[in-house]
Amino acid sequence: MHVAIIGAGQLARMMALEGWRMGLSFSFLANPGESSICVEGLGSVVELQEGMAAEELYKALGEPDVLTVEREHVDTELMASLEPYCKICPNPKAVAVSQHRGREKSFVNSLGIPTAEFELADSADALKTAVENIGLPVIVKTCGEGYDGKGQWKIDDADEFERLLPSIDCSKELIVEKVVSFEKEVSVISVRSVSGETAVYPITENEHSEGILVASIAPANLQCKVLSAKAKEAATKILESLDYVGVLSIEFFVVGDELLVNELAPRVHNSGHWTQAGDVCSQFENHIRAICDMKLGFTVPKTNVAMVNLLGIAVTPDLLTAANMQLHSYNKQPKPKRKVGHLNLWSDNRAELEAQVAELSKA
Ligand code: AMP
Repeated sequence: MHVAIIGAGQLARMMALEGWRMGLSFSFLANPGESSICVEGLGSVVELQEGMAAEELYKALGEPDVLTVEREHVDTELMASLEPYCKICPNPKAVAVSQHRGREKSFVNSLGIPTAEFELADSADALKTAVENIGLPVIVKTCGEGYDGKGQWKIDDADEFERLLPSIDCSKELIVEKVVSFEKEVSVISVRSVSGETAVYPITENEHSEGILVASIAPANLQCKVLSAKAKEAATKILESLDYVGVLSIEFFVVGDELLVNELAPRVHNSGHWTQAGDVCSQFENHIRAICDMKLGFTVPKTNVAMVNLLGIAVTPDLLTAANMQLHSYNKQPKPKRKVGHLNLWSDNRAELEAQVAELSKA
């Protein structure tokens, strides 16, 4: 089977590395000027050209059996235009839902799954009204773009709102969200295959700094024991109602016995990198298995597993300082705060693992 991936970054790399082992071949669709260093040696790279016809693109990609994505900001019309030629997983409509924060939250609420309270705005007046209706403190975010905390304004009081208003581009669609005072930020990696089989990994606990994921640990240590079942139920509902195929990642805020959805990502996710350890089938392998209609693999780890991101440093073997550690390099040049690799770690002793993660994150 031949799989084409839209994108040529580290997520495409890790999917292809798993697929190669199972005898699949790959090609990658890169944006003009996008570096393909992460997927070097793993398949041919096609650079997207404006006005390229669907059939031409299909042929350039080596006539794939299935096309998938490593990012959510892709041209879903382009994806849909390839539907007559090959399977497209996840389907373009599901990807489109995740591309717009307003659409995404409305969709999730329509399934009876809670999110932060929100309102949409597309002018300065509408923004003022929305802020008034939701009530300060709020977070204003652009609906269409922005990741890792970019394109967001946290507003605590009226003075701050007045001060920040000129810096907010009100010609763009905006979402005004109530600030949630959450206990933890967690995520769930879920997967559904062509045949409709679903599987969900345990809840992962995530630690961010300046909007960037620093470390994850799974299973999350949660006071409320009903949250695992709630996460599984929410993920399965979302997967099924979108007729979704592949890995879907869901970020949640934990508030008491509630999980509020913050974001959906129609792809493998940084907070799921730990699944390469812990004796489970990794999110990358399960994504490939799902889109190629294979049986899904195990998702419940035998021990505690963690991941620490390597940001902006040279990835060298001397980073492997312990036996319970795995090094993953993305083959990238270091640049400040750039994700260049990660370490996975595991231990039966939770406290020791947490201490090890804290030390590594600090370093
Ligand atoms: P996002 O781009 O939506 O993932 O937001 C980036 C980060 O901002 C999240 O990881 C949270 O730490 C924080 N954040 C986003 N939305 C909210 C919210 N409604 N309430 C509190 N914190 C938020």
